[in-house]
Amino acid sequence: MVTLTGKTAVVTGSTSGIGLAYARTLAGAGANIVINGMGDATAIETERAKIESDFKVKCVYSPADMTRPAEIAGMIELAESSFGSVDILINNAGIQFVAPIEDFPIEKWDAIIAINLSSAFHGIRAAVPLMKKAGWGRIINTASAHSLVASPFKSAYVAAKHGIAGLTKTVALEVATHKITCNCISPGYVWTPLVEKQIPDTMKARGLTKEQVINDVLLDAQPTKEFVTSEQVAALALFLCGDDASQITGANMSMDGGWTAA
Ligand code: NAD
Repeated sequence: MVTLTGKTAVVTGSTSGIGLAYARTLAGAGANIVINGMGDATAIETERAKIESDFKVKCVYSPADMTRPAEIAGMIELAESSFGSVDILINNAGIQFVAPIEDFPIEKWDAIIAINLSSAFHGIRAAVPLMKKAGWGRIINTASAHSLVASPFKSAYVAAKHGIAGLTKTVALEVATHKITCNCISPGYVWTPLVEKQIPDTMKARGLTKEQVINDVLLDAQPTKEFVTSEQVAALALFLCGDDASQITGANMSMDGGWTAA
């Protein structure tokens, strides 16, 4: 059992989907949490308060926009000023856009690279000095099966996720002697708003119905024919935070129903 009492975890993009599952799972193990992400202010406050009441920990919300480096540094400062440390950083915020390369909007490319890749660099850059000072740390990046293989029409996403895998390995080597690990988790398809939102564009890009996109495009890639759950991804992250995972670093851990084994 992994216990995180007295530790602080910052989870980007945790107002929804996988990020919210990470936040709730680490809170369940006793960590104080900084949640972050976009969305309806009342809904975010409800989730924040629920983490505190369900798990008897402290939880603060950072509205940092992951396209803005200064706000990302501010999120790390907020964690330190609220709880005195940043022990765990989970870089998870992400968006998707699906279009053929020749029609891919330039602003969508820039946004995906900023949110899905560069934000992790800015967060790690700000958090590593605090982890070194504390002599302990865990950095977990949400990559994707798309950090290992490609799918058509997802040029920016696949580029960003391959980048996350490289950043993970580089940081792992740099911090290896400081009792700080850096790993990425590569889920296959997890049923979250991010997946649901890309269905209409995939229907358009490939000329398919919704059922065809779910069964013939999404689950077609996954030999188990089942979606991964957010809670399963979060359980792996919790394991990576524990002492039994102290020698796992620089790893890209697949949880994809066999997708990338094919
Ligand atoms: P989601 O849409 O449910 O959650 C995305 C989160 O990122 C939300 O909290 C959102 O508010 C936040 N976010 C988006 N733009 C932001 C910005 N500019 N600043 C701050 N926060 C921002 O999606 P999800 O499926 O839970 O995705 C989470 C991560 O998991 C992403 O990195 C995604 O690429 C990755 N992933 C998802 C799947 C899947 O099938 N759902 C598979 C592999 C990897």
